Amino acid sequence: MRFLFLIIFVLLSPPVPASAAPPPTPVSVETAHTAEVRPPLVTPQMLRYSRTRVVLYFAGTAYGLLALWGVLATGLSARFARLVLPQRFSFLRLLGYYALLEMTLLLVRSPLIFYSGYSLEHTYGLSSQSLGAWLGDVGKSVGVNFLTTTPILWLLFWLIQRSPRRWSLWFWGALIPVIAFGIFASPVLVEPVFNKFTPLPPSPLRTQIQGLAAKAGIPDAPILVADKSRQTHETNAYVTGIGSSARIVLWDTTIQKMPQDQVLAIVGHEMGHYVLKHVLWGFVLTIGGLLVLLPLAQLFLEGLLRRFGQRWQVKSLSDIAATPLLLLTVSLFSFLLAPLTNGISREIEHQADVYGLQVTGNPPAMARAFVSLSEQNLSDPDPPAFVKFWLLDHPALKDRIDFTLGRKSAPGRE
Ligand SMILES: [Zn+2]
Repeated sequence: MRFLFLIIFVLLSPPVPASAAPPPTPVSVETAHTAEVRPPLVTPQMLRYSRTRVVLYFAGTAYGLLALWGVLATGLSARFARLVLPQRFSFLRLLGYYALLEMTLLLVRSPLIFYSGYSLEHTYGLSSQSLGAWLGDVGKSVGVNFLTTTPILWLLFWLIQRSPRRWSLWFWGALIPVIAFGIFASPVLVEPVFNKFTPLPPSPLRTQIQGLAAKAGIPDAPILVADKSRQTHETNAYVTGIGSSARIVLWDTTIQKMPQDQVLAIVGHEMGHYVLKHVLWGFVLTIGGLLVLLPLAQLFLEGLLRRFGQRWQVKSLSDIAATPLLLLTVSLFSFLLAPLTNGISREIEHQADVYGLQVTGNPPAMARAFVSLSEQNLSDPDPPAFVKFWLLDHPALKDRIDFTLGRKSAPGRE
């Protein structure tokens, strides 16, 4: 889903207009009962896991870029294109080419995919999946990636062929409805491929969540439970979709493992995303970001092709053999922009924390929820500054705990 990944990586949430958010009231230390909350237990195991994930991110990005460069430099991409594209461009031939390319890349990356997705998670006791079930999910991801990427690639090549000079602007315009549809359809078409989503069954928790939703002014917001325990022991929740597909999703693991007041604190945070329409703002900012990035990407692609095109046997950008170069550009831009996109995401997450605190009015429960998230997910609550800057799309959990308990005005603004 690399093109959707492009969409998702730029799917940063912009600053929320002040009028949309309730006025932030600092949580006073008197009401916070800070003494009741112990800090997360930082074990050597947690630190090892967190650091391995950081190394994997950088190593995986570098390896992925090298793999794409290798497919070009060895002339493999050109050979695949000749194999399936002896005649003129068509959607079917693009499908054939992309299938060959994806299989090759999957093979090259398979050791890293296995280590990162299966082996590491099992070593640290985070996965609940058998090898067969995990492979099934990988197969589904490959399928979803193929079905979503090929139409977008086809559209892109079609535009490059028709407007070799201005394609980036046309593509930008065409992406607006495509991204809107992607965000709308993801919770109803893509996410159910991997998990089952059911309404929260009647329970004291549901009654309390309904009360919270009424307080937040969203009594009709769908709140669904995902059977994530099929895949993981980790806990989480999220907001997804847009318009009539918008929903708050709780992992069943969160309900099973966390005390009710902590689940409510997490739901309060998610209601913040829902009420403040962060998904919609993310869409708007994505579109704005792409308007700048796509013309830059065009310049970058043309420059690389002038320099290496002949050596790679890639005649022009409209040649489907240039696909790895397009993917490489998306990957490189995502990597280089990560500090910016994650910085904006951290700000948005902080807004959701502020909202959640206000709507639940229970700072100790929210702080304890952050302690649980850190310990259950082996997430280092206070990683090195560089990791926070480059990788964290949420404020560090220690900062969130400190803010919640009134020890700090806002994460990252000490
Ligand atoms: Zn959030």
